[in-house]
Amino acid sequence: MRTPVTAYLGLGANLGDAQATLRTAIQALSHCPGVTVTAQSALYRTAPIDSSGPDYVNAVLEISTTHTAPALLQCLQGIEAAAGRERPYRNAPRTLDLDILLYGDGIVHSASLTVPHPRMWQRAFVLAPLAEIAPQRVPTEILRAALDQAIERIGW
Ligand code: ATP
Ligand code: MG
Ligand code: MG
Repeated sequence: MRTPVTAYLGLGANLGDAQATLRTAIQALSHCPGVTVTAQSALYRTAPIDSSGPDYVNAVLEISTTHTAPALLQCLQGIEAAAGRERPYRNAPRTLDLDILLYGDGIVHSASLTVPHPRMWQRAFVLAPLAEIAPQRVPTEILRAALDQAIERIGW
């Protein structure tokens, strides 16, 4: 049995009932073998940053997992597919996005996976919910620099 690793996942949706989709995704993850959800941020409403379309709903989860990072990504992509995720073009509006933000202190650079997530440090929709559940993983100056982006904490 592999030693469990603490990982952080970024969740986002801006098509359909985004809040319901995020809740369903959290349920699905909590039923995934090898994944235990250990903390979840509030939901946040954010204007599209690199993307377009309606406002996004975002959240961050802390999990404990015995999966390797690539196996975890496969599990996340299965949940995205079940939510009807389509990728017509880069940064398109989406029913569900599940990204690996951090995987312990792991560093991954492969064709299909980069961890820590390379764009997370510029994104208030990642940093604000991550700071809520794991402030030790978010440098104060980095968070402050991102907070000019439109973001609203909407609770649960
Ligand atoms: P962004 O990566 O800027 O948040 P996105 O989430 O919309 O964009 P996707 O279409 O969901 O991008 O994913 C494109 C590819 O990114 C996936 O097929 C996956 O292989 C790859 N990828 C690389 N690193 C990660 C990561 N840390 N988490 C999730 N996917 C990743
Ligand atoms: Mg993403
Ligand atoms: Mg993604």
